[in-house]
Amino acid sequence: MGKLAAIELGGTKTILALGRDGHIDERVEFPTTTPQETIARAIATINGWRDIHGIDAIGIASFGPVRVSPTAPDSGTILATPKPGWSWTQVKAPFASAFGCPVKLDTDVNGAALAEHRHGNGRGCASLVYLTIGTGLGGGVLLDGKPAQGLLHPEIGHLALRRAPGDDFAGACIFHQDCAEGLLSGPALAARFDMPLPDVLPTDPRWDFVAHDLAQLFVSLILTVSPERIIVGGGVTLRQPHLLDMAKSRVPGILNGYLPDYTDELLSHLITTPRLGNDAGPVGALILAEQALEEAGG
Ligand code: ZN
Repeated sequence: MGKLAAIELGGTKTILALGRDGHIDERVEFPTTTPQETIARAIATINGWRDIHGIDAIGIASFGPVRVSPTAPDSGTILATPKPGWSWTQVKAPFASAFGCPVKLDTDVNGAALAEHRHGNGRGCASLVYLTIGTGLGGGVLLDGKPAQGLLHPEIGHLALRRAPGDDFAGACIFHQDCAEGLLSGPALAARFDMPLPDVLPTDPRWDFVAHDLAQLFVSLILTVSPERIIVGGGVTLRQPHLLDMAKSRVPGILNGYLPDYTDELLSHLITTPRLGNDAGPVGALILAEQALEEAGG
């Protein structure tokens, strides 16, 4: 029996891992540069692992939007993205042809959701949302323990939110201005506060607007997905940890008496932080590799 290879293809960095059964044996990290350079570097690393251990399957957890459906003619293709050079890049086929083993691809956030569901703070929760708020804002959704896939995949980051009265920040999404990502991502917050995020004092009154926006996002997820858990990762809440509690406390007010089950007590368990930290992506990609092997009958 060989090992499984995991690729977390992130917007800023790529993490490769070798492992089995959720355990990472080796890990390599490098910046995500051009598609050609990044994919070649990943293939070379996995090639080295294959020569020593054998590789039975590969899992890829990729930034999106990406065609995740295995039956689509353009399966494994990155769709239109602001990341230079990556639109319409094939990120699955190069690995399938280089290694001739089963390859499964999903979004990076669905991968992280799978990892937290099996090994982290989402254990026992059949329905789960994993949000990451950092350079961008993305969300993975598990229903009955499986990633929700429709025509494409959920794109939580670009949901429109009801704005707080009196908030005139224009937003920073290049497509929609004040969608969730345009209001809550790291670059959006740096633009709103006009300073690097770690320098903003927790007592700055403008956090009220941000907490309102994040609470609106939580309410949207509660109303559409009804998740048993919402796990919030990414650099923004890591650098400004007060934001999560501020946002949680505003959820009952926005629901305004509707769904009275959503008390502060329930919300304190429902909305939480990840347990796996930086390992959620590679561990999720390892789970995808394991599924690829199972689906191929191995
Ligand atoms: Zn947007």
